[in-house]
Amino acid sequence: MSDAFEALTKRDHDSICNTYARYPLAIDHASGTRLFDVDGREYVDLLAGIAVCNLGHGNPELLETVTRQWTKLVHSSNLFHQQEQVELAEKLLATCGADKVFFCNSGAEANEAAIKIARRYMHVVRKRDAYEVITLDGSFHGRTLATLTATGQAKVKDGFDPLPEGFKTVPFMDLDAVREAITDKTAAVMVELIQGERGVRPLSQEFVDGLVALCREHDILLIVDEVQTGLGRTGKYWAHQHYGITPDVFTTAKPLANGLPMGAMFAREEMAAAFTPGTHGTTFGGGALVSAVASRVLDIMKRDAICERAADTGRYAMGLFEGLKAAHPDKVAEVRGLGLIIGIELTMPGKDIWNALIDAGFVCNLTQGNILRLLPPLIIEKDDIARFAQTLDGLLAAAGLPKSEA
Ligand SMILES: *Cc1c(COP(=O)(O)O)cnc(C)c1O
Repeated sequence: MSDAFEALTKRDHDSICNTYARYPLAIDHASGTRLFDVDGREYVDLLAGIAVCNLGHGNPELLETVTRQWTKLVHSSNLFHQQEQVELAEKLLATCGADKVFFCNSGAEANEAAIKIARRYMHVVRKRDAYEVITLDGSFHGRTLATLTATGQAKVKDGFDPLPEGFKTVPFMDLDAVREAITDKTAAVMVELIQGERGVRPLSQEFVDGLVALCREHDILLIVDEVQTGLGRTGKYWAHQHYGITPDVFTTAKPLANGLPMGAMFAREEMAAAFTPGTHGTTFGGGALVSAVASRVLDIMKRDAICERAADTGRYAMGLFEGLKAAHPDKVAEVRGLGLIIGIELTMPGKDIWNALIDAGFVCNLTQGNILRLLPPLIIEKDDIARFAQTLDGLLAAAGLPKSEA
């Protein structure tokens, strides 16, 4: 550890709320798919700021948009009609089956908007006393009081009682459990199609088909949380397009403005009718600057066929990682992924390997203690993936076998 790093970590500890188990790294600057720490060391970025900087760091076209829009208009507020916001909405709606969008500033806020529109739709449009949202074990939906209550992980709820009413979590991918949880108070089921934080755990097509049928049968909404999987991450604009479904409501955030904070909630016309002037809002949401940047992100994605590129690079990566699993069946339990959201589940705690990867110049995420999660910029080169796989291969070969239970 260098003096610069030590000094910064001490000031961080002394001044910032201690809510993050930070990596042993301080990033000074970044370019493309590379991160540079405060000591000038270079890393291949396989995390993209947690699925945020999908077009890489310091993208020159986005810089052009930021500087142009900064001098033109940064923020006027949602009291006004805004060209940039409308333009972005039209481009986003062209990628999916939704009719309307509400802009906000984060994933949690997008999910709050989804929960609010579901409740208000039931109460005001359908005149039903239905407000409950059913979610799945292992899910992650955010850190606000409502979204942490929706989240299917006990650790995010600890110490925050009393939690808001109207949420039920059921076991993962258990259709009978969802069916049993549905009552006349149920407004919606909310799911991630691939549970990101839980270690890249996809829902099966069969389960999703069953869920869609169940929602239709009971006349409740299906909300899909695409905060992490949205906008090309899985090799299509939206993960739900892989499943061939059209959610009633879905959300995104992380990659929308490639690093500037922005979220969005999409709804079909019928649900959108529940939001009338004064029923929901935000000061910053959909501001001119972030909207202009997100709009340019969509232009670049379309022009450069970023979804196809992510799908192709993802297939290549999965091939390599399946090879690692075959070479180290005792150490790699499973490899899961779609496009460039990939989880490599180890049979043992992954902290040492994850640390060694950082030392070797690769930054990825370790989740649940034993799952290496890769969320690289969608513009990552296959060569970088190959070098990562080669490095991981060496580390797995050198790692001790997991101790048996006995
Ligand atoms: C990150 C994430 C959220 C929360 O987003 P924030 O911007 O941190 O509020 C919600 N859902 C999913 C699936 C996420 O990955």
